[in-house]
Amino acid sequence: MYCNFMSRSGTSSVLAAVLLLAAATAGADSGWYRQDAAIMGTAIHVEVYHEDAALAQRAIAVVLDEMHHIDRVMSPFRPDSELSRVNREATLGPVPVSPELARLIERALQVSELTAGAFDITFASIGYLYDYRDGKRPDAQTVQQALPAIDFRHVHVDQAAATVAFASRGVRIDLGGIAKGYAVEQSALLLRGMGIRHAMISAGGDTRVIGDRHGRPWLVGIRHPRDEHGILTRLPVQDEAVSTSGDYERFFDEDGVRYHHIIDPATGDSARSALSVTILGPDTTMTDALSTSLFVLGPERGIALIDRLPEYEAVMVDARGGLHYSSGLAPHQP
Ligand code: ADP
Ligand code: MG
Repeated sequence: MYCNFMSRSGTSSVLAAVLLLAAATAGADSGWYRQDAAIMGTAIHVEVYHEDAALAQRAIAVVLDEMHHIDRVMSPFRPDSELSRVNREATLGPVPVSPELARLIERALQVSELTAGAFDITFASIGYLYDYRDGKRPDAQTVQQALPAIDFRHVHVDQAAATVAFASRGVRIDLGGIAKGYAVEQSALLLRGMGIRHAMISAGGDTRVIGDRHGRPWLVGIRHPRDEHGILTRLPVQDEAVSTSGDYERFFDEDGVRYHHIIDPATGDSARSALSVTILGPDTTMTDALSTSLFVLGPERGIALIDRLPEYEAVMVDARGGLHYSSGLAPHQP
């Protein structure tokens, strides 16, 4: 038996790339507490185990509070978020931000270095011109004009002063490729600080499991990118982060071409060398950013990158539906 976030919530906006296959049987579940919520524009699911019901429920509330906090700071849709203020003012000079936002932007810039610019939060300089719900996209000339604004080197973070400045006009940033993973990772830290030893936190396609479940690993099923109910493969995980990026989350098709929410910074157009990417590793902030990165890099460069990072593994479905595994996973495949 498995729980499918998508069918449970009944909305296609739920990012259900990763299904947690819980071996839940009635009665075997005492001590487990669950809650669903919609925060950061995505579906949140929290499961916590503790003998003390009050503590378990407090732990869930702490997670949801943390997600609300991160949304207030980093949402591009809230005019009063720190991120929105940065986007309005950082071309004029250094904008004071919270140390937390400065640190996450700095980490995003480090991932840009690591991925040769495949991950780039300035993708938003063009990304904001797409509206996937209304099927809107910028024309080729607009993209060409705005393209020079996409370059992570335009973003200057002063960690000591906690400021962010943009070195060029037209630059915008968006943390959509890293903030949900960060929120999940921060939540996991808070849970462990409260003495929680078994839990699962997920925000859209970003999931972290703490410990095991009923003495057995959690089973993570990786969704088929073109079949909502199909499962490509199942991976047992314990104390691990899992993130999936897919081209089926936010998209529209036009003349047989799919326009979706992962943008290749080199072109300002949607990345089309993959259908889905799943990353496993120790840190949800990184698995989130890396899943977006590999989507842009494609199978060859993407798997080569993961094979240089000993703690991280990847499963990728390429544009033609072919499967690619990083070297740490490949031996386990049938
Ligand atoms: P999801 O948000 O569906 O979980 P991802 O983790 O792959 O999926 O993140 C996609 C989001 O990342 C986009 O909605 C956008 O906010 C952001 N993004 C898109 N392209 C890039 C890119 N090249 N570099 C960094 N972030 C990106
Ligand atoms: Mg991601």
